[in-house]
Amino acid sequence: MAGIGLLELILMGIILVPIAIVVMVIIFSSGYRKKEEPTSNLAPCPDCQAPVSIHAVACPKCGCPIRPAEPN
Ligand SMILES: [Zn+2]
Repeated sequence: MAGIGLLELILMGIILVPIAIVVMVIIFSSGYRKKEEPTSNLAPCPDCQAPVSIHAVACPKCGCPIRPAEPN
């Protein structure tokens, strides 16, 4: 039967392609979350651009007062 090899190739492709997509999505989403997490609690100082906690009242580097997050 020459058709079995081709059928197995098609079945492997059908099984492996979704697995590869899922693995890529997991790797991409986990890497994206790791990058976004530190910046979510930090905002650049308006004066010296140093990363300052959003809960801070003033910049620890230059003393510039940090405004609370304003709604857009
Ligand atoms: Zn500053």
